[in-house]
Amino acid sequence: MLVNYHTHTTFCDGKDEPEAIVAYAIENGIDGVGFSAHGYTSYDYSYCLRDLEGYIAEINRLKEKYAGKIAVWLGVEEDSRSLMPRERFDYIIGSCHYFFLDGKCYPIDSAHDYFTRCLQAFNGDELKLAKAYYEHFCEYILARKPDIVGHFDLITKFDELDGEDRFLHDEKYLSLAERYLASVAGNGRIFEVNTGAVCRGYRTTPYPHERLLYALKKAGGRVTVSSDSHAKETLCFGFEEAKKLLKEVGFSTVCVLTENGWKDTEM
Ligand SMILES: [Zn+2]
Ligand SMILES: [Zn+2]
Repeated sequence: MLVNYHTHTTFCDGKDEPEAIVAYAIENGIDGVGFSAHGYTSYDYSYCLRDLEGYIAEINRLKEKYAGKIAVWLGVEEDSRSLMPRERFDYIIGSCHYFFLDGKCYPIDSAHDYFTRCLQAFNGDELKLAKAYYEHFCEYILARKPDIVGHFDLITKFDELDGEDRFLHDEKYLSLAERYLASVAGNGRIFEVNTGAVCRGYRTTPYPHERLLYALKKAGGRVTVSSDSHAKETLCFGFEEAKKLLKEVGFSTVCVLTENGWKDTEM
């Protein structure tokens, strides 16, 4: 079963219109597409959904038009500080692209120099920065219970760039991230294994880091594989490698969305 639940379009910061993506998916034998526009945020208009009604109408139109040919789902990727109306969507991906502390906004998913400035605000202490990020994100996950936890360790986005290497080879960071993950992974919570940063050249491995996948398995969490695609050609980017990694970690199933909710299916 080949489905991507994390797909951006021209309704937010993606390159292609939803129908072009559905047509591409059908041509390429993909079983389903879940659209997940970036939910509206008042603190960054540059990347988010502004035409909510237009988006919902268009995805619902595609659902009907292509019924029987491909499964189309209406999702949203909401930012942890800007909740979207849950009842209007088939599912919610909950992500933390920004966190706020003492009235200050920390954009950890923007350009590299923004990340550097976030770190400077913590006097260069990457563990303090990571702790602040996970505190905020985990609080949101427990309160909101999004259907899918989006790119859990996004804080490590720039870690493989030259001169970085702050997190992924630091045992203190990895232990910290494991503890936070274990605190929110119970009750079969679903995390995405997100290949987007690999596709865009930031990283060589998907989110979450392998160590966190082992912690997730141990805590009883569940997984989907997603590409965080911003162009139709990358709809299922890196899925085979991600599934291979998941099998090595010990997962044998991934979650797929059905009319009766999320079901574990053989990988
Ligand atoms: Zn995201
Ligand atoms: Zn995304």
